Amino acid sequence: LNRRLAEFGTTIFAEMSALALSTGAINLGQGFPDTDGPEEVREAAVRALRDGRGNQYPPGPGVPELRAAVTAHQRRRYGLSYDPDTEVLVTAGATEAVAASLLALVEPGDEVIALEPYYDSYAACIAMAGGRRVPVTLHAHEAEGRFRLDLDELRDAVTDRTRLLLINTPHNPSGTVLTREELAAIAELAVERDLLVVTDEVYEHLVFDDAEHVPLATFPGMRERTVTISSSGKTFSFTGWKVGWVTASPELVTAVRSAKQYLTYVSAGPFQYAVAEALSLPDSYFTDFRADMLAKRNLLAAGLEEAGFRVYRPSGTYFITTDIRPLGETDGFTFCRALPERAGVVAIPNAVFYDHREEGAPFVRFAFCKRTGVLEEAAERLRKAF
Ligand code: PMP
Ligand code: GLN
Repeated sequence: LNRRLAEFGTTIFAEMSALALSTGAINLGQGFPDTDGPEEVREAAVRALRDGRGNQYPPGPGVPELRAAVTAHQRRRYGLSYDPDTEVLVTAGATEAVAASLLALVEPGDEVIALEPYYDSYAACIAMAGGRRVPVTLHAHEAEGRFRLDLDELRDAVTDRTRLLLINTPHNPSGTVLTREELAAIAELAVERDLLVVTDEVYEHLVFDDAEHVPLATFPGMRERTVTISSSGKTFSFTGWKVGWVTASPELVTAVRSAKQYLTYVSAGPFQYAVAEALSLPDSYFTDFRADMLAKRNLLAAGLEEAGFRVYRPSGTYFITTDIRPLGETDGFTFCRALPERAGVVAIPNAVFYDHREEGAPFVRFAFCKRTGVLEEAAERLRKAF
C-alpha cells in the first residue's frame, strides 16, 4: 500500500459487519436497510434488463432519462434548475461522486476542510487526491442534544491553501442537519474566500421534527461553486445498486466527469432507468419513507435511553450517535468490539471518523434503518445487557 493510503486499512463497516456475521449479533453498525426499496422500482430494473436498456455501456454522463429525472427532482424540491445535458453526472454511488470530485478539483498540497466526524471515504479520497485534510469538529452540545458546527472554528480553519469545503448535511454519523443560518454562514465564507464546495446530501430526504434540508447550492453565489451529491442508495433503499449523481455548473461537471471517466468510465446501465422512475415517484413515497424512519428513530432512541446511553436524537440520517460515558464506559472501540458478546448487537465507534480521536472516543453510532421487530429485539437486548 502506498504512503497516501497507508493509514487507511479495512473500513470499519466491513470489520463490524464481519463481526455481526461471525457472532450472529444484530447489525446496527453498517448503514444499510434490511428491507429493499419499492417493488415498482425493482420491476423497472427488471424491465430495463429484459428490454435491453443499459446492458451495454450507457452514455458517459448517465442515461438521459435519469439526468432528466434528477433535474426535475432538484427543481421540484428546491427550485434549483440544472441543464440535464451539461449540469448532471451519474456516478457509481455517492462514493464515486465524492472521489471523482476530489480527484478532479484538488491539487496536491491543497487543503480540504471537512466536518469532523467525517464519513470515512472523505479522508481516503482527500489522501488519494494528494490533498491535506483539515478537520473542523462538530462538538457535542449536551444541553442542545446536538452536535454543532462552530462557525468561528470553521472561519479560522480557512487559509490561503484552502481549496475546497467538503460539507455533509444531513450529517453522518452525528445526525445533525445544518440550519439555514449555519448554511448561510458557510456560503458567505465560501464566496468571501473564493472556495469550491462539495456537498454530500445523500440523506436529503431523511430529516425529522422541525429540521429542514436546504441545499447549499440555493444560497447566493453558491450555484456556480458547488458540487451537490446525492444517491439512490439512501432515498430508495437500494444501497447495492450504486447509482448516485452530481449536479453542478457545466465547468465543474466537466471536471468531475474527467475523473469519473478513468475510475469507472460509466455506471451500471439498467439500474439508472429504474432510478429515473424512482425519482418520479409521487410525493407520498417520500413522505411515507420519512415517517417510517422517524418511527424507527423514536423506537431505537427510546431503547437506547432506557439502556442508559446518552442519546443525541438525530434531526436527520438513519443513525443515532450515543455517548457511552453514562454507562461507565469511555472508549467506543473497546465498547463496540465487546458489544456483540455482551449484548448481541453491533455498532460503530465514531472515533474512526475523527482526527481528534480523544474527542470522538466516547461516541458510538447505531443505525435504525431496520425492520421494527429487529429494532425492538435490539433495544430489548441492550436494556437487558446494561
Ligand atoms: N456519503 C455519506 C454521508 C454516506 O453515509 C454514504 C453511505 N454510507 C455515502 C456517501 C455513500 O453512498 P453510496 O452508497 O451511494 O456510494
Ligand atoms: N454509508 C454507510 C454507513 O455510514 C455504509 C457505507 C459503507 O459501508 N461504506 O454506515
